[in-house]
Parts: sequence; C-alpha cells; structure tokens
Amino acid sequence: MDNRFTIYNSLSRKKEPFTPLHPPFVGLYVCGPTVYSDPHLGHARPAVTFDLLYRYLMHLEYMVRYVRNITDVGHLENDADEGEDKIEKKARLEHLEPMEVVQKYINSFLKNMEQLNTLHPSIEPRASGHIIEQQQLIEELIKKGYAYEVNGSVYFDVLKYNEKYKYGKLSGRVLEELQSNTRTLDKQDEKRNPFDFALWKKATPEHLMRWPSRWSDGYPGWHLECSAMSIKYLGEVFDIHGGGMDLQFPHHECEIAQSTAAQGKESVRYWMHNNMITINGQKMARSLGNFITLDQLFIGNHPLLTQAYSPMTIRFFLLQAHYRSTIDFSNEALLAAEKGFQKLMKGIETLDKLKPSLTSTIDIPSLRKKCYEAMDDDLNSPVLLSYLFEGVKYINSVSDGTEKLSINELTSLKDLFKVFVFDILGLKDENISKGDEKLTSELMKIIINLRQGAKNKKEWAESDKIREDLKNAGIILKDLKDGAEWEME
Ligand code: ZN
Repeated sequence: MDNRFTIYNSLSRKKEPFTPLHPPFVGLYVCGPTVYSDPHLGHARPAVTFDLLYRYLMHLEYMVRYVRNITDVGHLENDADEGEDKIEKKARLEHLEPMEVVQKYINSFLKNMEQLNTLHPSIEPRASGHIIEQQQLIEELIKKGYAYEVNGSVYFDVLKYNEKYKYGKLSGRVLEELQSNTRTLDKQDEKRNPFDFALWKKATPEHLMRWPSRWSDGYPGWHLECSAMSIKYLGEVFDIHGGGMDLQFPHHECEIAQSTAAQGKESVRYWMHNNMITINGQKMARSLGNFITLDQLFIGNHPLLTQAYSPMTIRFFLLQAHYRSTIDFSNEALLAAEKGFQKLMKGIETLDKLKPSLTSTIDIPSLRKKCYEAMDDDLNSPVLLSYLFEGVKYINSVSDGTEKLSINELTSLKDLFKVFVFDILGLKDENISKGDEKLTSELMKIIINLRQGAKNKKEWAESDKIREDLKNAGIILKDLKDGAEWEME
C-alpha cells in the first residue's frame, strides 16, 4: 500500500497514483447488468476487468467494499426516457412476471460469473429494493432546485446544473453540442430541454412495475439507482466507480450530475472504464447475427464457433488485452487464446516437477519485480502475461537442464506463479477441477453402494450412520426407488 499502483482516471484523462480516501479501506462501485437477457460476451469484459482490479487491490492488502448493482427496473429500451422497460418487454414476450424475468437472468448471470471465476462482490443491491432511497434523492434535488415535476414525472434540469457545475466533463460532450444534436421538443414533451433526463416517471396504466410516490404511481429513472445506492453503501465520496465505456454517456454523466447536485460535491474520485468487444471487426448486435451468449461459447453452439471454449479460455482471452483497448473477437483469436492458456498451465505443471540445484542461473526477484510493475501500471495484464511466459521459458530451460534453480529460487518461482496466475489473474487449472469432479463422483458411487449393501442386510444403524456422516460433510443423500442421488448442501 505504498501508492505505487497507478490507474487511468477517465475524468482527468490521465494515469494517477491510486490514493484511497481512507486507507486501508477502498470503496468500489461498478455498474452491473440490466437483467433481461442471457449474459453475453459484453457482460464478461467488465466482470473480468473489475474482478482483476478487486483481486489486485486485495492483494495489495486493501480492504475493499465492492458494490455491483443489478438493474431490475427503470432501464428503458432506448437507454433514455422513452420506450418500454426492457424487463417488462421481456416479461410480456415470455409470459412471466417482471420479477420472474429478473430472477431468471440474475441466476444465469451469477452462474456465468462463477464459471469465469470472478469473485462475488461484497454487496449486489437491486434498484427495486432501493425505491425509498431514490425518492429521497429526488426530494433533495427538487429542494435544491435541480429537478422539476411535470404531470407526475420528475426531470433533472441540466441547464440549471450547468450554470453552477459543468455538465459533460466525463464524456467531453458540451451542452451546445447536445443542444444541436438532439431533436427539438415536440408539443407533448414534458421536458424543459431535450437533454433533461427522468428521475421519476409516471407509470402508464399498463405499466406493471410501479411504486407510490407524492408525484405519481411510477418508477425511477435508470441513472438514479447508481447515485442512490453508491451513496448509501460507500458514502458521499468514494474511491472508484467502474463500468463499460458505453456507459460514460448518458449513464455516468447523469450519475455525476445527480450526485453532485444533491451533495454539492462530486462523489467519485477515480472513474474507470473498460473498452468494448468487437466481433470479427463489427459491433456485437443481435441484428448482425454475431451476438454470442456465454453459454453458447461454453457449449460451442454458435455458427461463428468451430468448437466450445472453456470459461478459462475466455478469461485468458480477455486478459490478453489491456482493459482500455478494444478486443476483436473471432474463432481464430479464441483458438490462439486456448493454446496460450494451455501453454501457461503446462508450464505450471512442469514447474511442480522441477528439482532444485545447488546454484541458480535465473534471477527470479527481477522477474517478480517486472510482474508487479506491469500490474501497478493500470492493470497491464497483457504485459504481465508476457513476463509469465518468460517464466515458462525459464521453467522449460530448467526442465531440459540448460538452466538451474536453487531451492530458494524454485520456491520463489512457484510462489510467483501462484500469486500472479491464480490469485491475481484469477485463472484456474480446469484439468484439475475436471479430475476432481470425476474422482468425487466415483467415490460417491462407492459410498452409495456400501450403504445399499448395509440396507440390503438390514443394517439400518450402519446405513443411517453413513447418511449422517455425509450430511455432516455437507452432502445430502436422497433415496430413490433404486439407489440414491446426492447433492452438495
Ligand atoms: Zn450505473
């Protein structure tokens, strides 16, 4: 924690030494998914980027409160104040309750995130669970003169805000430009200016997700939840706010305006944004037929793929690029990533078998120093990986006898790979876990057969004891008509 870690701040547009407000504590807020469809590649990149940040901060011994929200209300189709709520639309198409849609896609999101070996955030608050906090923030904004009510809806007054604070400082968009680029208001429009945005929308009669308020039965605007929930869980001023670059405008710009107007000061000290993924050089979009969900990747059932790719191959593929660079995704690039990942894992396998010599010909401390320098330089994972492959080269040279490692240097190299590959990059050896699964299932078969044998001999005490012992180990046995099945508690 010696401020050696530098991160690129999207607000100042330069790299800055990271100095938390209240060390060792770090507040990290990341905009999470709007849960209305199966998670896709676009979800994987911010998840892995901020997981890398979270892991590295913890490695540097910071105590991180990582908050990632779940948007389950208020995100309208056109990302602004018009169109149907994305979740309600899906609910109508799938004949489900909106909250069933939410639950379904939260489950698939969390499943995919676990497959990608991302750590769970400390708090995953939902917008629908923080309606009161959002209403309180609206009250505050009305009281301070930055919001106005029209026909039961409340809008943020961007012009008024711009008089005192500068609107557009994150995205670099200036108001005059916005003014000329947006359509003129038609007569029915309630907003004073087209760039004003909704804080509260009055619900139409057919709108399902609605809450009472003093303005109307309605629902909050999309940008509001992140201001309300980040302030609630991380305080008025906190360290890092992250998200995809596509969220800079309007979402994050509006968040800055809301929080600053309500508090009289800015909330976020460092803004971090990951860049986007293109597919064969094109933007990913359902209409272009290049939209790939994570399940399709893991199973391999998409026309653009020649095979399935494991979650760790995808994670490795994402880490091969710096988070602020675009990544072009293709079947060929994935095949190369798969090869690279396997080479790294093979290197670690060889490392475990190396025998120490009395002397060393390789300088491990300088390799370790370079690895840290890469991570300290705004999470430069591609450079880190190049040093790790340098390490793999050393491992192979020691293995074939051209180089030597003493016991201390060998221990140090093993520790370096453990720390950087597994703890920080969050990769794991999938062959080992596959082997573990097979072993567990074989052992369970044997145990279930032993218990069946006891039951056949009417040794009930014995069969009950086996069931109890398994339960104590967190394994639940369910008797079936013939045999039994098991699951983890
Ligand atoms: Zn957000």
